[in-house]
Amino acid sequence: MKLGTARVGGREVVIALDAEGRARVVEDARDMLDLIDRWEALKGNLRLSRDPIELSDLQILPPIPRPPRSLFCVGKNYREHAEEFTKSGFDSSASGPNDAIPEHPIIFSKVQDCIVAHGEAVRYPEGVSNGLDYEAELAVIIGRGGRAIPRSEALDHVFGYAIFNDITARDLQARHKQWLIGKSLDTFGPFGPWIVTADEVDPADLDIRCWVNGELRQSSNTRHLIFDVQTLIETISAGLTLHRGDIIATGTPAGVGIGFTPPRYLIRGDKMAVEISKLGRLENTVV
Ligand code: MG
Repeated sequence: MKLGTARVGGREVVIALDAEGRARVVEDARDMLDLIDRWEALKGNLRLSRDPIELSDLQILPPIPRPPRSLFCVGKNYREHAEEFTKSGFDSSASGPNDAIPEHPIIFSKVQDCIVAHGEAVRYPEGVSNGLDYEAELAVIIGRGGRAIPRSEALDHVFGYAIFNDITARDLQARHKQWLIGKSLDTFGPFGPWIVTADEVDPADLDIRCWVNGELRQSSNTRHLIFDVQTLIETISAGLTLHRGDIIATGTPAGVGIGFTPPRYLIRGDKMAVEISKLGRLENTVV
């Protein structure tokens, strides 16, 4: 099922899309986190509004508009991207040019206030950074929380999947060593438009693509993840509890702006589009 959050007539509601792509309000849920909490009981017979709403008549919000805590993100999780990033000289996590491929997942966090919806602007951080970059990523939404989740059970803890664009200020990422500031500037987290529930998605075989102004920059498949979704959940939850509604952005494939010589940073007016099989298309413009 394809689920989202939208503003309809001034009210924030959870919506479900039908096969024709029209929205109906999910009347059982106060918001997406409430729906995730009660999903096991509700999923068989969701109460949906009778009349569909055309997408043009509603304002799409991020599928989880206010995540309860920071996003978990994964660095260098596609081989070719790990190599392009380390070669670029901006990789403060590498000890040298031969240290591109991580032995263990690199987990960092991104402050959740940076999240913006499909169609919302990414604001150019004038005077703060001149090194804006895009990163198309598969995001995992945790359903049932847990600690010490083994990889054999990891996918049972996933509510669904969504598209994420891990916007990054490369100069800040390099200068501050820790990546949090460079990853968390306001509006640096385009997310959505939908969450597709886990029963409809094989996270190990999804095409992932990103365009800037119509030019294809990134094109890969999640089968090329160095650390798959199960490994990421097992690793993160080993000693810290994952909660329902937690978001894990699984890393980006090769083709980011910094992989070009010279780097092709984002500028004002650039239109980004990210597509992942079955999950839809996420579009945002830098303003
Ligand atoms: Mg990333």
